[in-house]
Amino acid sequence: MEKSEETRTPLNFIESKIEEDIRNNKNQGKVYTRFPPEPNGYLHIGHAKSICLNFGLGSKYNGKTNLRFDDTNPIKEEIEYINSILEDIEWLGFNWEGKPRYASDYFDRLYEWAIKIIGKGKAYVDDQSAAEIANQKGTPTEPGQESLYRNRSIEENLDLFERMRNGEFEEGSKVLRAKIDMASSNMHLRDPLMYRILKKPHHRTGDKWCIYPMYDWAHGQSDFIEGITHSLCTLEFEVHRPLYDWFLDQIIENDYRPVQTEFARLNLSYTIMSKRKLLELVNEGYVTGWNDPRMPTISGLKRRGYTPESIRNFADRIGVAKRDNVIDVALLEHALKDDLNKKAPRVMAVLDPLKVIITNWPEGKTEDLEAINNPEDESMGSHTIPFSREILIEKTDFMEDPPRKFFRLGPGREVRLKSAYIIKCEDFKKDPDTGKIIELYCTYDPDTKSGSGSQKKVKGTLHWVSAQHAINAEVRMYDRLFDHPDPAGQKDNDYKEFLNPGSLKVLKNCMVEPSLKTSKPMDKFQFQRIGYFCVDYDSTENHLVFNRTVPLRDSWAKMQKNRQNQNN
Ligand code: ATP
Ligand code: MG
Repeated sequence: MEKSEETRTPLNFIESKIEEDIRNNKNQGKVYTRFPPEPNGYLHIGHAKSICLNFGLGSKYNGKTNLRFDDTNPIKEEIEYINSILEDIEWLGFNWEGKPRYASDYFDRLYEWAIKIIGKGKAYVDDQSAAEIANQKGTPTEPGQESLYRNRSIEENLDLFERMRNGEFEEGSKVLRAKIDMASSNMHLRDPLMYRILKKPHHRTGDKWCIYPMYDWAHGQSDFIEGITHSLCTLEFEVHRPLYDWFLDQIIENDYRPVQTEFARLNLSYTIMSKRKLLELVNEGYVTGWNDPRMPTISGLKRRGYTPESIRNFADRIGVAKRDNVIDVALLEHALKDDLNKKAPRVMAVLDPLKVIITNWPEGKTEDLEAINNPEDESMGSHTIPFSREILIEKTDFMEDPPRKFFRLGPGREVRLKSAYIIKCEDFKKDPDTGKIIELYCTYDPDTKSGSGSQKKVKGTLHWVSAQHAINAEVRMYDRLFDHPDPAGQKDNDYKEFLNPGSLKVLKNCMVEPSLKTSKPMDKFQFQRIGYFCVDYDSTENHLVFNRTVPLRDSWAKMQKNRQNQNN
């Protein structure tokens, strides 16, 4: 059924533009987008936004989407990064058109085009150092100075450029610059660099080149070569657009041009998104690697327990904007909880165990009880959990002298054990030296088995495991990596000062229900009453390791509710 005008999701500004282009039969109505990462680090949640946008539009408009590595800088780029990028995009659930492309595939073509531009008198070889060139740039309000080498003859420029390519000159001794306008109000048009000499092998072209194109010189031409129709990028490239257009106008006669549209990059509170800083955190050992579960990288989020669906839903929900803004990281966490709530089986784990002896339960007797896997989804069925005379509960679920509203255990108080019976605390034992509670003595009421239709009601329900059947597990309690909402934006401080000292607490004495013995890395669970957890890559059958994904408390949902209440 056609949705009525009012219920259809409104188009964002990029979709509106694409639909207008389709109506006008621009590019024969075709839509071709691309995602162009530079392989100099792992992808992060900001890139995920761009991936969802580009691949999402490609598929929404029956178009295609390329993956193109912008590999113009042989110094910072590594195969490890390329492989991680391929893996992350596939994990997010997207397929690129054909094979991955590389800007380096176009080095020959770019070289030919550079010669064409020199031949038109629109580019020259400059012998000045990078520092000298920068000094002549001027400021946005003052024009720059023209280089002494700006008016070299075409013949001399062609000869020097060829010799640059042949390796006759040292690194840093010459560059090729476009000859545009040193007084332009757009700094990017003040004779920008096109090539620099770098005597470094490239991961794909080996030793073939010792001059490498600048990103700005390669980017627009790469889009053109691939037939990209809608070239989407973040706002900081808006000022580069006239340069991309200028380059294409020098070398291309026909009318087809990739049209660039800019959108606001994703900024997240409590999060750093600069690849340079993320690399620092890795290299300086603040995290265990690019895929540390506290990193905002896609591989980190995956290891933390994020699902591809939750990331895609998050990207949908934030949409695209024309102006920079900051998204609350709680919204990302909310998207995850929303997804895991539907998918994650409920199990029981006790993080800080206290022994409880059920004094009226026969010694040696075990009863298999039924535990519902997910109350949100009946089709997920149930599994069994063993109940026996000695069980473990959380230490924090007992108080010797509890206040009235403490709906857990205390002397003489009753609680329900999840999926089991109602128990009553009759007595407890303290360690004579430390005064700490070490054992509780309870009785159970045999008429109160869960699911038996018992009418008896108590206020609190506790999670528990059977002491004899539970398995020891290591639980890594992750929290946000930074404890400041804007760790990178504090002028007088180094962002590392805002690292959260409590971002990882390792708990080694946790006890989990026996059904988890066969769990595999990346399996996700809700530990009842605690939060969502996922099995870490380090986990084995003999040493289970869980990562805390997110606590149950949903700060985003709570915030929305508060806001609603204020508005009512
Ligand atoms: P660098 O500083 O290394 O250039 P980068 O984050 O721009 O970092 P790229 O590999 O060039 O990294 O980015 C690939 C694509 O992802 C680009 O099109 C870029 O605009 C987009 N992108 C990068 N960061 C974000 C972000 N925070 N939000 C949305 N898109 C982003
Ligand atoms: Mg970039």
